[in-house]
Amino acid sequence: MNKRKQGYLRKIPAVNDLLAMDLGQKLINDYPRQLVVEGIREVTDKLRKQILDMELKKLNKFKIKKEEILDQVKEYLVNKTSDQLKAVVNATGVVVHTNLGRSLLCDAAKEKLQQVASKYSTLEINRESGERGSRYEIVEELLTELTGAEAALVVNNNASAVLLALSSLAQGKEAIIARGQLVEIGGSFRIPDVMKQSGVKLAEVGTTNRVHLADYKRAINEKTGVLLKVHTSNYEVVGFTKEVSLKGLVELGSEHGVPVVEDLGSGILVDLTPWGLSYEPTVQDSIKAGADVVTFSGDKLLGGPQAGIIVGKKEYIDQMKTHSLNRALRVDKFTLGALEATLQEYREIENARREIPTLQMLTVSEDELKKRAEKLAAKIKKVISLQFELKVEQDISRAGGGAFPTEELTTYVIKLAHQELSAEEIAERLRLNNPPVFTRISKGNVLLDLRTLQDEDFAYIVEALDSIRG
Ligand SMILES: *Cc1c(COP(=O)(O)O)cnc(C)c1O
Repeated sequence: MNKRKQGYLRKIPAVNDLLAMDLGQKLINDYPRQLVVEGIREVTDKLRKQILDMELKKLNKFKIKKEEILDQVKEYLVNKTSDQLKAVVNATGVVVHTNLGRSLLCDAAKEKLQQVASKYSTLEINRESGERGSRYEIVEELLTELTGAEAALVVNNNASAVLLALSSLAQGKEAIIARGQLVEIGGSFRIPDVMKQSGVKLAEVGTTNRVHLADYKRAINEKTGVLLKVHTSNYEVVGFTKEVSLKGLVELGSEHGVPVVEDLGSGILVDLTPWGLSYEPTVQDSIKAGADVVTFSGDKLLGGPQAGIIVGKKEYIDQMKTHSLNRALRVDKFTLGALEATLQEYREIENARREIPTLQMLTVSEDELKKRAEKLAAKIKKVISLQFELKVEQDISRAGGGAFPTEELTTYVIKLAHQELSAEEIAERLRLNNPPVFTRISKGNVLLDLRTLQDEDFAYIVEALDSIRG
């Protein structure tokens, strides 16, 4: 090896020399020593390689600075110890955004999580007898009260709710379902696959766009275990279409002694038409129509924690409670605590709308959105570089989570364009900001949708945009 290069390599400071510096001491105070040493090795190894690869001419001007090495070590430590699951700013306008964690919890649910995390709780104990109780009693009464059902059970998510319902009611038998309802929900949930998994044979009836009661009638036989209806929550079949009403299926089912299961997807408990949304059938509607079992998600339109909620006739819910799968799909104390607190808010509709962030974001008025857009725009204008162009405009946001699939919610957005950077580049920089900011891109502009922004997000957005220079 070249002698001068060797000389340079020898100038790379030793680990102990770096640790003896002020910043080195500070790093040891702030991080585990082993990790700091690992960071120093990582950075100095890179430096060594850099020197070996460098032309001699450039090497003459190259200076090794201990401070710079330690700065890089610090960066390494910050990255290494930062969490993978980060809180983000959701400026996409999609309220139930599955990739960003679906629903935000109401204050009462957050407090409950804090409580059950720091204290022992009455998860599975009967206070009167002091004997073992059942965790399922915790929300069953509230759920039956709110939905009108006889009994209720909560499992890990709606996919497991459907799996458990089918397994316990129709294993080894057939489930009759309309072809137009063989849905796929993002992230590999497909009704035909769930059926296979639960040991239930699929008996499709009707065509893609139309199914009649007579189709179900013809398909019913001694092997039929359930009649399944799936709410086509993330799409709508429009045009020349026909579906059989839940009521129709219930009548047919009771004639033949076959239970009717409805997968509602994102079950909703309240009518949001007073706030300008279209009517979405509620869980109560399904129970009233006589469904034997109804399943829905806890973290879609309900606005609670991830959970699969099963309500319906006691005889069927009891079968599910004792099914061995139920143990594998059971929910923990955090889910139950947050769900109970969320459901409590539903005792009064206006209260639920105010307290539950998902409902609040879906029903916020246009005026309010516009006012907030202008307020945020004014803050942003003060800091952004002159290369940005900014406008406040009316736009459309979506409910998300496979709910209200065709509903266009009027919203206000801040529209940003930049003279040199593309919308994709700006969006990427915002995503890589700390905290990350997620936006929507439309026609070459970055849009910040006020519907899903909270007031405390404003400062983060302003800071993130302030840091984009050129
Ligand atoms: C979302 C959805 C599911 C899956 O619910 P998860 O809670 O995400 O497991 C199942 N069926 C329908 C119709 C859905 O919309």
